[in-house]
Amino acid sequence: MATITLPGLIDPHVHLRDPGQTHKEDFFTGTSAALAGGFTTILDMPNNAEPITTLARLERKIESAKKQVVCDIGFHFGTLGDNFDEFHKVIDKVKGLKIYLNVTTGGFIIDKEKLVDIYKAWPESKPILLHAEEDVSELVESVLRAVAKRSHLCHISSRTELEFIMRAKDAGLPITCGVTPHHLFLTDDDAERLGPYGYMKPFLKSKKDQQFLWDHFDYIDIVESDHAPHTKAEKDSDNPPFGVPGLETTLPLMLTAEAEGRLTRQDLLDKLHHRSAEIFDIKTDESTSIEVEMSEYKIKNSDLLTKAGWSPFAGRHVIGKVQKITVRDETVFKSGQVLAQPGSGRILQ
Ligand SMILES: [Zn+2]
Repeated sequence: MATITLPGLIDPHVHLRDPGQTHKEDFFTGTSAALAGGFTTILDMPNNAEPITTLARLERKIESAKKQVVCDIGFHFGTLGDNFDEFHKVIDKVKGLKIYLNVTTGGFIIDKEKLVDIYKAWPESKPILLHAEEDVSELVESVLRAVAKRSHLCHISSRTELEFIMRAKDAGLPITCGVTPHHLFLTDDDAERLGPYGYMKPFLKSKKDQQFLWDHFDYIDIVESDHAPHTKAEKDSDNPPFGVPGLETTLPLMLTAEAEGRLTRQDLLDKLHHRSAEIFDIKTDESTSIEVEMSEYKIKNSDLLTKAGWSPFAGRHVIGKVQKITVRDETVFKSGQVLAQPGSGRILQ
């Protein structure tokens, strides 16, 4: 069976739930899922049960991660517009600042008027990440024109949103964007079939919106999983939370799309490695790589390492199973088994 070797992949957008909601995922299970999916570096979002908006909370999170992680991990900081004094204390310990402009898990959202103040207060050296769906794109554009700081728009999902990115990029604004595998490979037709298991923010969009993303793939910098694990019990409840796991399915979905001629190997490497390394200043070298067996298999919930234990892509036939991962010349994953010791991953500063 043919095997390919790729650089260790980078996912700059995951929610590992630790500390605070470790019944959904923790740093060990989340980074194990990352390795199983070919990711050797991930960046974790700040909307924990207690949002990571102070140095003290960030340090507690890092302490928890240090004992458990089996791949490299970095952190984004959070803000509700009232913690500017913390910015200079954490700037060397984080990879970016995440701002929520739409309601999402935990209702972690800022007062829109504070956006310009936040942009002025955040140091220039690290990018700002935005959860900003189409209803707030005008606001984002006006802020970017006033304060031109590097901004990454997360999980672009619709034609309107990508058209905004295209205009902003063509106008020279310092903007990048990511799309999720669920928006590339699922539509609102699937949402009906999946019920709460297809419930996420932004919502799944129409086939037309999805086609627009594929037709303008060059404008997309990163494919980011937005790995957002919840338990089956939570998803089956009367009030299911937003979000789906994605770390273990992103690479095979992309390799399958490559086999179907929808993207090139270079596209895949750019969107799962190179652009994230550039945007978030992540050092990589040839001592870290992944080996992927290019055989077809069916995604099964029972094979997943995420504590959530399910995938919206269960049942789908894909190509590309990670067989072996080498990090800094050490074998850390082989034949479905995590070999790395908990705590052996690095904390990125
Ligand atoms: Zn997210």
